[in-house]
Amino acid sequence: MAETSSREMINEIRGTRMVPGTCIICPWHCATEVFVRDDKVVYVRGNEHSANGTSRCVKGIASAHLSRDPDRLLHPMRKNSSGGFDRISWDEALSYIAEKLLSIREKDGPEVVGYFWHLDSNPMFSMQLFTHLYGTPNWSGHGAACDQDRRLASEAMFGHPLPTKDFAHSRFIMLWGVDPFGANEALHENRELMEALKRGAKLVVVDPVRSRTAERAHVWLPVRPGTDGALALAMAHRIVETQAYDQEFCEGWLYGFQEFADHVLAQGYTPEWAEGVTGIDQQTITQLADEFAATRPALMDGLKGLVNYSNGLDAFRTIYTLNAMTGNIDGPGNIILKEPAPLDMPIEIPEEEVAVPQRPSLSEAMGYPLAPDIPTQLLPWAVIEHQPYPVKAAFFHIINPAMSEPNSRVFEQMMEALELSVTIDLYMTETAQLSDIVLPEASMFERAEVREGLWSGPQVICSQPAVSPLGESRPVYEIMKGLAEKLGYGEYFQWDSWEDWARRMTQYLPISFEELKEKGCWQGDLNYYKYGEEGFGTGSGRIEVYSESLNEAGYDPLPVYTEAERVLPDDEYPFQLINGKMQFHCNVHTQNNPYLLEIEDENWAELNPQDAQALGISDGDRIEIASPQDKAVIAVRLREAVQPGVVKVIHGHGFGRRFGSMARGKGTHINPIFETRVNPISGGIGYNECKVSIGKSEEA
Ligand code: SF4
Repeated sequence: MAETSSREMINEIRGTRMVPGTCIICPWHCATEVFVRDDKVVYVRGNEHSANGTSRCVKGIASAHLSRDPDRLLHPMRKNSSGGFDRISWDEALSYIAEKLLSIREKDGPEVVGYFWHLDSNPMFSMQLFTHLYGTPNWSGHGAACDQDRRLASEAMFGHPLPTKDFAHSRFIMLWGVDPFGANEALHENRELMEALKRGAKLVVVDPVRSRTAERAHVWLPVRPGTDGALALAMAHRIVETQAYDQEFCEGWLYGFQEFADHVLAQGYTPEWAEGVTGIDQQTITQLADEFAATRPALMDGLKGLVNYSNGLDAFRTIYTLNAMTGNIDGPGNIILKEPAPLDMPIEIPEEEVAVPQRPSLSEAMGYPLAPDIPTQLLPWAVIEHQPYPVKAAFFHIINPAMSEPNSRVFEQMMEALELSVTIDLYMTETAQLSDIVLPEASMFERAEVREGLWSGPQVICSQPAVSPLGESRPVYEIMKGLAEKLGYGEYFQWDSWEDWARRMTQYLPISFEELKEKGCWQGDLNYYKYGEEGFGTGSGRIEVYSESLNEAGYDPLPVYTEAERVLPDDEYPFQLINGKMQFHCNVHTQNNPYLLEIEDENWAELNPQDAQALGISDGDRIEIASPQDKAVIAVRLREAVQPGVVKVIHGHGFGRRFGSMARGKGTHINPIFETRVNPISGGIGYNECKVSIGKSEEA
């Protein structure tokens, strides 16, 4: 007798129908199973065919609300002369946008138009329309605010954009500025980390704050914020000095290892030096370097807490060099150079029809030729002061710079200066409120999506419409199709249903489209040591610890340590401000969710009790945080976990104006106090480089 799957059991018990989906609430994009009854989402869990299995994080479980949130955008709208919005039809909206785009291109060239996206579904449609057909090189994700330094370090050294982690087989794991247990314990990667700990793997966490992951670590290294690079260089110094590196691997696969070894010794990046910089004692550094070099397999990696500094790129290059010099690359228990899935583009454009821009991309013109994504912190200067060249029109697709970029006030000014601004979103975000045209996008439950997943092996997720779109909202592929028709590119966007383009995208998968649709997720084999056959994707075919691509672009080919000067506190601004997220919210998809607001409905600052006592501040008080640029009032929580002299703020709340009725007015909009600060090579945001003063506020 055929076994009943748990999908079928749930359907039977709940009277539902299961439709495979994808969660796009955070960048993990987990494959999901969406259970639907009477055109309503009643339950969501992980996809049993994906590495995550059926588990999901709390944000994902609560996401069902999105499909019926009464505060979602329902109709296209255009700003009127009094600053309000008028409802218009899709035809009017798309005609207006197309007319403007054609006249702007005629007058100023296609490069003055930018398309910016974050939690996009199927970003390839806008990429093909805007870059291949309309002709602008300025199409960009939000990487500058996120993993830009990590991506560039990996590109420069491995010729690979996205390393993942094989915690499952690792015996020594060192994590820098990342808090997987504080973010999401349901992910396969984090469950593997727990399993590795149970098996006896050693966990070391480098973080100025004792995070939830640090609490479970064997060693927590509370570095002074922004000094991780010095700690990593000192570990490299010790391993070079004691010749504890993997000699055979270094000789065979590292390009410029001798230059790197000579460099760390000549620069005097000793553990003793690093103690003075980082606050971590030299014996601990020495011991950890010895242990890391001696334990196989091992891995070290990091994320936002490390990259949000102007010296984050070199910190990352050193961390990847530590993995490489100890031979811990792409094997079981190492960082993995993820194999891409064989996905095709959704539409076919003959090569001779692909537009060739006349001007360089904004990244290049701004002086960041290697930046993976456009340094969006500098976008306002392109719009307002036409530096390095003018940007006249911009699209914001589920991205909210007027709220979420540091120095966000300048983004508000930027919005006013654009000739055409279009927001495509689910909610009336701060950016949408300042746009000329607002287009409602269908939610992740109401549209199809084909995307590469983030599992370490090749993975493709295929989600399908589970319920009807709310109001007149449309999937982005239908929005791009409508716009393409108005712009005269309709011939390329020909399909009767989403299955037509999805079938084309997945034509090279080893399973049929029907099987992919039924399962919702395909995973290939997780292969190790792929470089053995193919080499690395760099010019030399080896791991470039001496980077030729950085060298050619005029940068130092070897990582150095530079102090992030604005981090250094002074008498007027004696605290270092760092930022983080909370476990229960992520981006605009969660902030109007009543279930999640029930758990946490505002953001807060965290301060060490010693500092609080000296300032007469008690737990739960409201404090004023002032930077050289602006100030904000926010609730404070006292935590021993935060180092004295540091204040951590959780961002992502404080919506005003018209954003969802449940989120509005809750918490503090903190981003105006951060100054504009950009990594000089990657163009990533130096979000954590901010010194502030703190005082008790009388404001309620
Ligand atoms: S919010 Fe949770 S379920 Fe959704 S993509 Fe992120 S980790 Fe996955």
